[in-house]
Amino acid sequence: MHGFEDFEQELSDLEAANLRRRLRTIAEVHGTTVRTADQPQREKVLFCSNNYLNLAEDERLRKAAVEAIRKYGWGAGASRLICGTLRPHTELEEAFADWAGKERALYFPSGWSANQTILTTLPNKGDLVLMDHRCHASIVDAVRTSGADFRTYRDESDQRLQRFLTDAKYRRKYIVTESIFSMDGDPARLDILAELKERFGAVLILDEAHGLGCFGPTGAGLAEQLGILDNVDILIAPLGKAAGCAGALAAAPAAVIDLLINRGRPLIYTTAAPAACAAAALTAIRIIQNEPHRRKQLSENAAYLRNQLLKMGLNIGQTASQIIPVIIGESEKALLWSSRLEAEGYFVTAIRPPTVPKGAARLRLSVQYAHTKEQMDGLCRVLKGLAG
Ligand SMILES: *Cc1c(COP(=O)(O)O)cnc(C)c1O
Repeated sequence: MHGFEDFEQELSDLEAANLRRRLRTIAEVHGTTVRTADQPQREKVLFCSNNYLNLAEDERLRKAAVEAIRKYGWGAGASRLICGTLRPHTELEEAFADWAGKERALYFPSGWSANQTILTTLPNKGDLVLMDHRCHASIVDAVRTSGADFRTYRDESDQRLQRFLTDAKYRRKYIVTESIFSMDGDPARLDILAELKERFGAVLILDEAHGLGCFGPTGAGLAEQLGILDNVDILIAPLGKAAGCAGALAAAPAAVIDLLINRGRPLIYTTAAPAACAAAALTAIRIIQNEPHRRKQLSENAAYLRNQLLKMGLNIGQTASQIIPVIIGESEKALLWSSRLEAEGYFVTAIRPPTVPKGAARLRLSVQYAHTKEQMDGLCRVLKGLAG
């Protein structure tokens, strides 16, 4: 009727395969509970937010953002290179470079754009990118369009990885990975990658989206925890997760940062994130550094929930973090479990292909610092009933 029948067909095909996705509007959030707009009278316990340390609602972040809005206004007004670099951006970058022990840092409006900028600007024709097969879409899509040759490896001891690394025809070889994989919660063997990177002279790029704030003596991430931060050439820290903010930081040698500023099109041609976002992020970094009890409690909560689920015989894969997949299999069943949980007062979105492999649909539980034992026990009771 309006010329989009093919789109409608595609959507009904998705529907038929239980793969159609819809946006849910959240009307209210209070730490570990939400009210959805379609059922505002009912409070539900949230088990799918990446706000791991409950910093998103922290009064100090709100205050930092409001003060920055008063001082600088809301929108940054221009891209970073024109006149959109405001003092909070610079202060945030300096603090992160310092924390990561790198020469310089750069703030991006999102983790997606950080990966897009870094992975399309640095690797080029004549280079080779090796990436873990579990990597996030923002990494995969960027690498695919970089112009470099790329290969994926199954895990860090995959023999092919070493073979690729010895291939002499490339100018530069990059290894790209996440620290904690976003859908399975399993950690990368960064110790092995650090060793390989040194042995073969490769460049190591690490996305700490789910490690920042949750691991390491000062919360800098899994690489810090393993004592190999120095072996990481480019450290990427999306701030939408544990930091409870928005945007992402990358820390690297000065030449890398300067090249990104000069050649990184997704950064050059986008409006800078509001100064308030940078101001809140700096506050979040200070809290992460100074309040280790948050990550300690988070890790205790996560260990507790993992144990309870294991005792029930559920398949939670190889997780060793606050991300706990309950792998169900068929999309239809994952959707059913999700809606049954919601009926019992637990909000957990089903994750289906193509976000996860076919036949590996799941509930992706994420634990927060502020979850109580009662909330976790309640969730387990419902899951136990579902698992029958
Ligand atoms: C969430 C995520 C991103 C994207 O970060 P945004 O700030 O949400 O765009 C990048 N990498 C990984 C591994 C992520 O989980």
